[in-house]
Amino acid sequence: MEEKIKMPLVIQGDDGIRPAGNPNECFYCRQKIGQEHKEDCAVVTKEVIMEYSIQIPIRVPYHWDEENMNFHKNGSSWCANNAIREVWDFIKKLKKDGDCLCDAFSASYVETSDPNPRIPENEKSQNALRESGLTNKI
Ligand SMILES: [Zn+2]
Repeated sequence: MEEKIKMPLVIQGDDGIRPAGNPNECFYCRQKIGQEHKEDCAVVTKEVIMEYSIQIPIRVPYHWDEENMNFHKNGSSWCANNAIREVWDFIKKLKKDGDCLCDAFSASYVETSDPNPRIPENEKSQNALRESGLTNKI
């Protein structure tokens, strides 16, 4: 028999409780405070690895060939953290022109790194509520 997945509880101050909705229930799955969010609720997440691909123009020494460029970014002491600044500088340039990164970006799913349903921001309160024994009795 398959074990039932333990979903995060709806708690006071929960991400799923929206100003436009009932203050005692999740706006998305309609579960009440103290009950588990439903499996298809919008605020319950799992962690996945996505591969991001971004094509941006950067300046390199004039004489570099493809091998030089690939070695510089993949095999040298260059730190990939610098890529974030390069991407950010490109985004700023695009914004100036009223554009965005969407045409230069693609993403693809690699794998699920944490399949457990979670609302990371709520976990401290989640555990306290489960330990209090007040769950599912509302
Ligand atoms: Zn919910």
